[in-house]
Amino acid sequence: MRAWHVTTPAPVERGPVALTDRPIPDPAPGELLVQVLACGVCRTDLHVTEGDLPVHRPGVVPGHEVVGRVVAVGATAEGYTVGDRVGIAWLRHTDGACRWCRRGAENLCPASRYTGWDADGGYAEYTTVPADFAYAVPDGIDDVAAAPLLCAGIIGYRALARASVPEGGVLGLYGFGGSAHLTAQLAVAQGARVHVMTRGEQARELARSLGAASVQDFDDPPPEPLDSAITFAPVGTAVPMIMRALGRGGVLAVAGIHLSDIPALRYEEELFYEKQLRSVTSNTREDGRAFLQLAVRHGIRATTHTYPLDGALEALRDLKAGRFDGAAVLVP
Ligand SMILES: [Zn+2]
Ligand SMILES: [Zn+2]
Repeated sequence: MRAWHVTTPAPVERGPVALTDRPIPDPAPGELLVQVLACGVCRTDLHVTEGDLPVHRPGVVPGHEVVGRVVAVGATAEGYTVGDRVGIAWLRHTDGACRWCRRGAENLCPASRYTGWDADGGYAEYTTVPADFAYAVPDGIDDVAAAPLLCAGIIGYRALARASVPEGGVLGLYGFGGSAHLTAQLAVAQGARVHVMTRGEQARELARSLGAASVQDFDDPPPEPLDSAITFAPVGTAVPMIMRALGRGGVLAVAGIHLSDIPALRYEEELFYEKQLRSVTSNTREDGRAFLQLAVRHGIRATTHTYPLDGALEALRDLKAGRFDGAAVLVP
């Protein structure tokens, strides 16, 4: 099969991934072998290929927004049969035994492992997934439209929960890429008034079309104090500005896995009046299942730009440069 792997992490301009032939993997006990039908390109793939995240598996195949078809079922794998359409997401292992797993917070499990970082992912014609961590992909969403739901969508769902938007409240979204444009649809469907702060006319246009109450540049203040905010931009220097845009009791959730350093916060303007700054760490399988149901119920759809499997490096470069709105999807 053809598969991309990370050679040496470096800026994508220098080509840190290579496309080569390699054997189709064998599913281990408990795993499914999946033929990849579509694989989304997530910002986390950029962090893996560029070295913002430490190397967990040398030569890893990136990609953790996979929609595919089960072609073989490993010993003891349950719940799926050959021919089923499944989704493969970022979280692929937890120990089920630690204090966090036992209280329903498996996203915080210290023994967690991740697709496209600890194990080979979906920038390939075939990949594997533990059956316990695969998702049934609901009917009525095509492969390409479903792929970005599996990370961008699920993480946005968790970020929205972490942002604690009050009933009918005001939400600010900072940055408007793959995850934000799905989160905006869910927030609007749930009755929030959504203000979008982002660079790039294409992204602003998309935000307007998805029902944003207002759209402005990334550094511009929203037209009213925010009850909640989510930042999708991996830019720590923006955090004080966003904390100032919150009203009393406001909550900022940082959606990304990587953020550059946050400058010192000024207590009076940026934290007092019970403002809160929260991180968002991965997701639980329950988050994933809940979001996929909501995506069907509310008709949440990704705006997608497809690339052939050969075009993965170009897609990563385009993502970094902000050359498309919505989400990129590889189609082998
Ligand atoms: Zn655990
Ligand atoms: Zn992701």
